[in-house]
Amino acid sequence: MRKQIVVGNWKLNGTKVLCHQFASGLAGYIGSVELVICPPATHIDCLVSAASAHSSTVSVGGQNVAAQSGGAYTGEVSAGMLRELGACYAIVGHSERRALFGETSEIVAQKASHLLEAGITPIICVGESSLVREGGEHAKFVGRQITEVLSRLAPSAESAVILAYEPIWAVGTGNTASSEQVQSMHAHIRSVAAPFINSVATRVLYGGSVTPDNAANLLALPDVDGALVGGASLELDKFLAVAGGC
Ligand code: PEP
Repeated sequence: MRKQIVVGNWKLNGTKVLCHQFASGLAGYIGSVELVICPPATHIDCLVSAASAHSSTVSVGGQNVAAQSGGAYTGEVSAGMLRELGACYAIVGHSERRALFGETSEIVAQKASHLLEAGITPIICVGESSLVREGGEHAKFVGRQITEVLSRLAPSAESAVILAYEPIWAVGTGNTASSEQVQSMHAHIRSVAAPFINSVATRVLYGGSVTPDNAANLLALPDVDGALVGGASLELDKFLAVAGGC
Protein backbone atom coordinates (compact mmCIF):
# COMPACT_ATOMS: atom_id res chain seq x y z
CA MET A 1 0.00 0.00 0.00
CA ARG A 2 1.50 3.33 -1.07
CA LYS A 3 1.01 6.14 1.46
CA GLN A 4 -0.12 9.38 -0.21
CA ILE A 5 2.29 12.29 0.10
CA VAL A 6 1.91 15.97 -0.68
CA VAL A 7 5.14 17.91 -1.17
CA GLY A 8 5.31 21.71 -1.18
CA ASN A 9 8.00 23.34 -3.28
CA TRP A 10 8.45 26.90 -2.06
CA LYS A 11 11.01 27.64 -4.81
CA LEU A 12 12.75 31.01 -4.22
CA ASN A 13 10.11 32.14 -1.73
CA GLY A 14 9.50 31.95 1.98
CA THR A 15 10.69 33.53 5.20
CA LYS A 16 11.38 32.38 8.74
CA VAL A 17 7.98 33.79 9.64
CA LEU A 18 6.36 31.48 7.06
CA CYS A 19 8.33 28.50 8.47
CA HIS A 20 6.90 29.19 11.94
CA GLN A 21 3.42 29.74 10.54
CA PHE A 22 3.48 26.36 8.77
CA ALA A 23 5.03 24.53 11.73
CA SER A 24 2.41 25.78 14.16
CA GLY A 25 -0.45 25.46 11.66
CA LEU A 26 0.41 21.83 10.93
CA ALA A 27 0.90 20.91 14.60
CA GLY A 28 -2.62 19.55 14.99
CA TYR A 29 -2.63 17.81 11.60
CA ILE A 30 -4.03 14.30 11.89
CA GLY A 31 -4.65 13.44 8.22
CA SER A 32 -3.38 10.19 6.72
CA VAL A 33 -1.38 12.00 4.04
CA GLU A 34 2.34 12.57 4.58
CA LEU A 35 3.20 16.27 4.33
CA VAL A 36 6.58 17.60 3.20
CA ILE A 37 7.73 21.19 2.75
CA CYS A 38 10.79 22.03 0.66
CA PRO A 39 11.81 25.57 1.60
CA PRO A 40 14.98 27.27 0.32
CA ALA A 41 18.07 25.55 1.77
CA THR A 42 18.70 28.53 4.08
CA HIS A 43 15.37 27.87 5.81
CA ILE A 44 15.54 24.09 6.24
CA ASP A 45 16.89 24.14 9.78
CA CYS A 46 14.45 26.88 10.80
CA LEU A 47 11.51 24.79 9.58
CA VAL A 48 12.92 21.59 11.14
CA SER A 49 13.36 23.32 14.54
CA ALA A 50 9.98 25.03 14.36
CA ALA A 51 8.30 21.73 13.45
CA SER A 52 9.98 20.01 16.39
CA ALA A 53 9.10 22.84 18.78
CA HIS A 54 5.44 22.59 17.76
CA SER A 55 5.44 18.75 17.60
CA SER A 56 4.37 19.22 14.00
CA THR A 57 4.12 16.20 11.72
CA VAL A 58 5.54 17.96 8.66
CA SER A 59 8.75 16.61 7.13
CA VAL A 60 11.28 18.90 5.50
CA GLY A 61 13.08 18.55 2.18
CA GLY A 62 15.58 20.33 -0.05
CA GLN A 63 14.79 21.70 -3.51
CA ASN A 64 18.16 20.75 -4.94
CA VAL A 65 21.49 19.21 -3.97
CA ALA A 66 25.05 19.22 -5.26
CA ALA A 67 26.07 16.54 -7.74
CA GLN A 68 29.28 16.15 -5.71
CA SER A 69 29.77 15.10 -2.10
CA GLY A 70 32.22 17.89 -1.23
CA GLY A 71 35.18 19.93 -2.43
CA ALA A 72 35.76 23.11 -4.43
CA TYR A 73 32.18 23.74 -5.59
CA THR A 74 31.38 27.27 -4.47
CA GLY A 75 27.76 27.84 -3.57
CA GLU A 76 26.71 24.19 -3.55
CA VAL A 77 25.01 22.29 -0.71
CA SER A 78 25.78 18.58 -0.41
CA ALA A 79 23.46 15.70 0.47
CA GLY A 80 25.33 15.22 3.76
CA MET A 81 24.75 18.88 4.62
CA LEU A 82 21.04 18.56 3.84
CA ARG A 83 20.91 15.52 6.10
CA GLU A 84 22.67 17.42 8.87
CA LEU A 85 20.06 20.17 8.57
CA GLY A 86 17.31 17.60 9.04
CA ALA A 87 16.05 17.14 5.49
CA CYS A 88 14.46 13.75 4.75
CA TYR A 89 13.64 14.40 1.08
CA ALA A 90 15.09 16.45 -1.78
CA ILE A 91 13.75 17.36 -5.21
CA VAL A 92 16.06 16.64 -8.17
CA GLY A 93 15.58 17.27 -11.86
CA HIS A 94 12.86 19.91 -11.52
CA SER A 95 12.12 21.33 -14.97
CA GLU A 96 13.29 24.77 -13.83
CA ARG A 97 16.67 23.32 -12.92
CA ARG A 98 16.89 21.34 -16.14
CA ALA A 99 16.00 24.40 -18.26
CA LEU A 100 17.70 27.22 -16.36
CA PHE A 101 20.73 25.44 -14.89
CA GLY A 102 21.46 22.81 -17.52
CA GLU A 103 20.71 19.81 -15.32
CA THR A 104 20.97 16.70 -17.49
CA SER A 105 19.71 13.22 -16.63
CA GLU A 106 23.29 12.23 -15.79
CA ILE A 107 23.55 15.07 -13.28
CA VAL A 108 20.12 14.24 -11.88
CA ALA A 109 21.28 10.64 -11.35
CA GLN A 110 24.47 11.80 -9.59
CA LYS A 111 22.41 13.99 -7.29
CA ALA A 112 19.94 11.20 -6.56
CA SER A 113 22.82 8.79 -5.79
CA HIS A 114 24.34 11.19 -3.27
CA LEU A 115 20.97 11.66 -1.63
CA LEU A 116 20.43 7.91 -1.32
CA GLU A 117 23.88 7.49 0.21
CA ALA A 118 23.01 10.19 2.75
CA GLY A 119 19.72 8.50 3.64
CA ILE A 120 17.57 11.14 1.92
CA THR A 121 14.73 10.17 -0.43
CA PRO A 122 15.14 11.79 -3.85
CA ILE A 123 11.99 13.14 -5.51
CA ILE A 124 12.95 12.71 -9.17
CA CYS A 125 11.03 15.03 -11.52
CA VAL A 126 10.30 14.29 -15.16
CA GLY A 127 8.01 15.90 -17.70
CA GLU A 128 7.66 17.00 -21.29
CA SER A 129 7.32 20.42 -22.92
CA SER A 130 4.18 21.45 -24.81
CA LEU A 131 6.11 21.01 -28.07
CA VAL A 132 6.91 17.40 -27.23
CA ARG A 133 3.31 16.70 -26.23
CA GLU A 134 1.91 18.32 -29.35
CA GLY A 135 4.27 16.15 -31.38
CA GLY A 136 2.85 13.05 -29.68
CA GLU A 137 6.26 12.10 -28.28
CA HIS A 138 5.47 12.63 -24.58
CA ALA A 139 5.40 8.97 -23.49
CA LYS A 140 8.70 8.24 -25.23
CA PHE A 141 10.31 11.43 -23.88
CA VAL A 142 9.29 10.88 -20.26
CA GLY A 143 10.12 7.18 -20.48
CA ARG A 144 13.62 8.09 -21.63
CA GLN A 145 14.08 10.57 -18.76
CA ILE A 146 13.07 7.85 -16.27
CA THR A 147 15.37 5.24 -17.81
CA GLU A 148 18.32 7.64 -18.05
CA VAL A 149 18.16 8.39 -14.33
CA LEU A 150 17.09 5.06 -12.81
CA SER A 151 19.55 2.99 -14.88
CA ARG A 152 22.39 4.94 -13.24
CA LEU A 153 21.28 4.31 -9.65
CA ALA A 154 22.51 1.41 -7.53
CA PRO A 155 20.12 -1.56 -7.45
CA SER A 156 19.59 -1.00 -3.71
CA ALA A 157 17.58 2.10 -4.65
CA GLU A 158 14.49 -0.18 -4.59
CA SER A 159 11.42 1.81 -3.61
CA ALA A 160 13.66 4.42 -1.94
CA VAL A 161 12.89 7.03 -4.56
CA ILE A 162 9.80 9.06 -5.36
CA LEU A 163 8.98 9.92 -8.98
CA ALA A 164 7.14 13.11 -9.92
CA TYR A 165 5.47 13.68 -13.29
CA GLU A 166 5.45 17.42 -13.93
CA PRO A 167 4.53 18.37 -17.50
CA ILE A 168 6.43 21.61 -18.12
CA TRP A 169 3.38 23.20 -19.74
CA ALA A 170 1.45 22.71 -16.49
CA VAL A 171 4.06 23.99 -14.01
CA GLY A 172 3.14 27.47 -12.78
CA THR A 173 0.82 28.09 -15.73
CA GLY A 174 -2.63 27.32 -14.33
CA ASN A 175 -3.04 24.67 -17.09
CA THR A 176 -3.45 21.41 -15.21
CA ALA A 177 -3.12 18.14 -17.11
CA SER A 178 -6.40 16.25 -17.51
CA SER A 179 -7.15 13.17 -15.42
CA GLU A 180 -6.73 11.00 -18.53
CA GLN A 181 -3.34 12.53 -19.37
CA VAL A 182 -2.12 12.11 -15.79
CA GLN A 183 -3.35 8.53 -15.26
CA SER A 184 -1.99 7.30 -18.56
CA MET A 185 1.44 8.89 -18.01
CA HIS A 186 1.69 7.61 -14.42
CA ALA A 187 0.87 4.07 -15.51
CA HIS A 188 3.49 4.41 -18.25
CA ILE A 189 6.09 5.71 -15.75
CA ARG A 190 5.42 2.77 -13.45
CA SER A 191 5.93 0.29 -16.26
CA VAL A 192 9.09 1.98 -17.60
CA ALA A 193 10.57 2.13 -14.08
CA ALA A 194 9.82 -1.55 -13.34
CA PRO A 195 13.16 -3.01 -14.56
CA PHE A 196 15.07 -0.71 -12.18
CA ILE A 197 13.01 -0.30 -9.01
CA ASN A 198 10.06 -1.86 -7.24
CA SER A 199 7.73 0.38 -9.17
CA VAL A 200 4.56 -1.07 -7.65
CA ALA A 201 5.75 0.18 -4.24
CA THR A 202 7.16 3.46 -5.57
CA ARG A 203 5.13 6.62 -5.14
CA VAL A 204 4.49 8.60 -8.32
CA LEU A 205 3.39 12.20 -7.74
CA TYR A 206 1.71 14.62 -10.11
CA GLY A 207 2.79 18.26 -10.21
CA GLY A 208 1.61 21.16 -12.34
CA SER A 209 -0.86 23.80 -11.14
CA VAL A 210 -2.39 21.59 -8.45
CA THR A 211 -4.89 23.63 -6.42
CA PRO A 212 -7.58 22.89 -3.84
CA ASP A 213 -10.08 22.90 -6.75
CA ASN A 214 -8.48 20.15 -8.85
CA ALA A 215 -6.58 18.13 -6.21
CA ALA A 216 -9.34 15.70 -5.27
CA ASN A 217 -9.88 14.52 -8.86
CA LEU A 218 -6.18 14.14 -9.62
CA LEU A 219 -5.29 12.47 -6.35
CA ALA A 220 -8.10 9.93 -6.69
CA LEU A 221 -6.51 8.44 -9.83
CA PRO A 222 -5.21 4.88 -9.27
CA ASP A 223 -1.59 5.59 -10.19
CA VAL A 224 -1.32 8.98 -8.48
CA ASP A 225 0.18 8.78 -4.99
CA GLY A 226 0.24 12.44 -4.13
CA ALA A 227 1.19 15.85 -5.45
CA LEU A 228 4.17 18.12 -5.88
CA VAL A 229 2.79 21.60 -5.32
CA GLY A 230 4.41 24.95 -6.11
CA GLY A 231 2.24 28.07 -5.90
CA ALA A 232 -0.46 26.57 -3.68
CA SER A 233 2.12 25.41 -1.14
CA LEU A 234 2.91 28.96 -0.04
CA GLU A 235 -0.40 29.37 1.75
CA LEU A 236 -1.11 27.03 4.63
CA ASP A 237 -4.86 26.82 4.01
CA LYS A 238 -4.39 25.98 0.33
CA PHE A 239 -1.67 23.42 1.06
CA LEU A 240 -3.88 21.70 3.62
CA ALA A 241 -6.84 21.80 1.26
CA VAL A 242 -4.76 20.07 -1.45
CA ALA A 243 -3.77 17.37 1.05
CA GLY A 244 -7.41 17.05 2.07
CA GLY A 245 -8.14 16.01 -1.51
CA CYS A 246 -6.09 12.82 -1.12
C1 PEP B 1 6.40 22.93 -9.08
O1 PEP B 1 7.10 23.92 -9.04
O2 PEP B 1 6.89 21.83 -8.87
C2 PEP B 1 4.98 23.10 -9.38
C3 PEP B 1 4.27 22.03 -9.62
O3 PEP B 1 4.51 24.39 -9.39
P1 PEP B 1 2.96 24.83 -9.52
O4 PEP B 1 2.17 23.99 -8.54
O5 PEP B 1 2.94 26.26 -9.15
O6 PEP B 1 2.54 24.56 -10.92
